[in-house]
Amino acid sequence: MREYKLYIHVQFVGSKGGGTEDTRNPFDGSPVARFAVANREDVDSAVAAARGAFDSGIWTGLSAADRAAYIKKIGEKINEKANDLINLEVLDSGSTIKKATEDIFLSARAFSVFSRLATGENEREMADISKPGFAKNYVRYEPAGVVGAIIPWNFPLKMAAWKLGPALAAGCTVVLKPSELTPVTAMELAQIIDEIGIPAGVVNILPGYGPEAGEALVRHPGVDKIAFTGSTAVGKKIMQLAAEDLKRVTLECGGKSANIVLEDADLEIAVDGSIYGMFYHSGQCCEAATRLLVHENIYESFVAMLVEKAKRMKMGNPMERSTDIGPLISKKQQARVLGYIASGKKDGFRIAMGGGEVQSPDLSNGNFVKPTVFLDVDNRSRIAQEEIFGPVLVVSKFSSDEQAVALANDVVYGLAAGVWSRDVDRARKIAERLKAGTVWINEWHLLNERAPFGGYKQSGIGREFGRIGVEEYMEIKHVHVDDGVPRQKRAWYDTVVPK
Ligand code: NAD
Repeated sequence: MREYKLYIHVQFVGSKGGGTEDTRNPFDGSPVARFAVANREDVDSAVAAARGAFDSGIWTGLSAADRAAYIKKIGEKINEKANDLINLEVLDSGSTIKKATEDIFLSARAFSVFSRLATGENEREMADISKPGFAKNYVRYEPAGVVGAIIPWNFPLKMAAWKLGPALAAGCTVVLKPSELTPVTAMELAQIIDEIGIPAGVVNILPGYGPEAGEALVRHPGVDKIAFTGSTAVGKKIMQLAAEDLKRVTLECGGKSANIVLEDADLEIAVDGSIYGMFYHSGQCCEAATRLLVHENIYESFVAMLVEKAKRMKMGNPMERSTDIGPLISKKQQARVLGYIASGKKDGFRIAMGGGEVQSPDLSNGNFVKPTVFLDVDNRSRIAQEEIFGPVLVVSKFSSDEQAVALANDVVYGLAAGVWSRDVDRARKIAERLKAGTVWINEWHLLNERAPFGGYKQSGIGREFGRIGVEEYMEIKHVHVDDGVPRQKRAWYDTVVPK
């Protein structure tokens, strides 16, 4: 069994509290790896390392090209070690091997994209308010400082890449806390970062529990910005804690995304896309297509097609290439999802498939839940309003575009949405009215590290990806330079200054 220590100031060290924990394979409960669990003192050491590195200028002082070279190298090393990382991601997170293969490729791609977005302190002239003989104005973009990054368990390496990539590209130094449930590939990433020789203290990675290591990081006065991905409940807590010293926060939180199928959609592809949107990674995706809204004219036939096909998804050992549906991350998550299924049953909604735990003896040690479809669901019910984060689809009917938009927007979340239609103009009109950070038309799950991603409403604050995402890791400064205005012509000449 592999053992991982904390990565602080280019050293692999044990936790000061001596704590260790084993991660468990969600497929059979067997131990996967042992990792050191960071406590508050470890967080102090990691922040001191990141603070020292930032203030010394060893990272911010590099040219954007030099920083880009380091970031690119991280991606290249991920590709070199891809087979090992894929294997570890399956064991540690319960990802199917098909998903894990994609995740590792996309993690490497993310570093490659962010290397191209690397920028140093830079300036943009404000031509609209600059005037020769009066003033020159420019805006400076400066790295925000030390970033505390906190990530969830559903895409362990990819989430680490999505935080480290833009933070390093912006010139920040980082303390990254992976989820206590899936620290393995983040610690392999620490090894990679160590191997490529990134300057000391620029990246520090330490797994630990949210209430201890996570909160210590959020409250730490040496941290300038918190970049968080996780549940809305924890996001709210982080915002409260960060408010103590008005720390900058970006929050990438939960979702309950509406997937609208119009009566003129290409039904075959809409069925495939809806299954992919909902059941990819057993529904454990923030922007999963968890609320299916179908036009009344095609409702019964569409649902019949979807259920017939969804029943053919193969549930099983995530290590096998034929497996479509793997286990959920933990027994706790399994119980939570089963609780929502019980709630839907109690509310009396029709069940088209699934509806409980898996009985198969081969899968009895895993955290499996049968892919489940509830029909004719009232949009105000619990299963339609709350994020379940498991393979549970709720389906409702609509009769007009207006009603579809109203239902889609009638949740506290606003992460993503989708519209299926052969009439792209009509779909685009609907897209304009959806309160969601990403809208797919005749697609799902396609994110791009160059296009902004983030949430409306309680799905988050700020955006990841692209130049916009990198700027979330920067402070903005306006500099006004007088261009020789005579004393008597100064704006303040006639105010308070004695003549
Ligand atoms: P979570 O909120 O329970 O935990 C996320 C991280 O926060 C973990 O590292 C955890 O240790 C840490 N944490 C927990 N309590 C904390 C505290 N009090 N202070 C500081 N840190 C704390 O989420 P999860 O169960 O790991 O992940 C699933 C959630 O993540 C879902 O809600 C999902 O929608 C969301 N998610 C969102 C996105 C997005 O981009 N919007 C992407 C992936 C997952």
